[in-house]
Amino acid sequence: MQSDQKLLLYEGKAKRIFKTDDPDRVLVEYKNDATAFNALKKSEFEGKGRLNCQISSILFELLESEGVPTHYLGIVDENLMMAQKVDVIPLEVVLRNIATGSLCRETPILSGTEISPALLDLYYKDDALQDPLLTNARLEVLNLISKERYNQIENLARKVNKILSNFLSKVDLILVDFKLEMGVNTNGNLVVADEISPDTCRIWDKRTKDLNDRILDKDRFRKDLGGIVQAYEEIFNRIKGISSNPRIYK
Ligand code: UDP
Repeated sequence: MQSDQKLLLYEGKAKRIFKTDDPDRVLVEYKNDATAFNALKKSEFEGKGRLNCQISSILFELLESEGVPTHYLGIVDENLMMAQKVDVIPLEVVLRNIATGSLCRETPILSGTEISPALLDLYYKDDALQDPLLTNARLEVLNLISKERYNQIENLARKVNKILSNFLSKVDLILVDFKLEMGVNTNGNLVVADEISPDTCRIWDKRTKDLNDRILDKDRFRKDLGGIVQAYEEIFNRIKGISSNPRIYK
């Protein structure tokens, strides 16, 4: 299936969303493009789209097997998945198990500090506003979601954190932090949407103590460390070894 034959609904920084004949379903194409720092830094990595699509499908199927609803329906091609059409809630739900990244740039919290229970940070998803961090009070004034929806989002995000952290630790990978997006599908149910990949998660390798070598996620690009595709491949190979093949969408 060629993407140029499909009707493009939306193009984001790392994915394209296409319409299908079914109004409840969309095709998600993972691109090789990489961006960081609100797209001030851009590049392209051959193989990244395929790896993120395959890693996301394994992780979505894992979540589903643990009772977490997601938008994922199945793999269509190596960099293409079928998903439920959802209204994405414009929030970036970030869970942090270990302090690093913006948390350490913006506060005196030392990088590497373990955070338990995980810190949940909500950001308003808007490139023009540079995805600002929200306080609970601002979220209330924003009037975007009800208290009940907030509780659902928090519970789901914390459950996802437990499932992913346990799973990755089985192959010596540490889930440092990650970002989720959630949406409401056409049945009105809250589901985990977007992607779950080394573009949206920080993942460290327990098998090395070297502070750069252990980074297996998009920080390799942010910090100009090189070897981004090899790092993503390493994650894919490890988790593939403890998962069944993702289902093919027919
Ligand atoms: N993240 C993301 N998209 C964003 C912002 C953050 O996927 O637009 C992920 C990021 O990869 C990391 C986590 O959310 O796993 C926390 O990111 P942080 O707030 O530390 O921001 P950064 O340091 O990347 O600017």
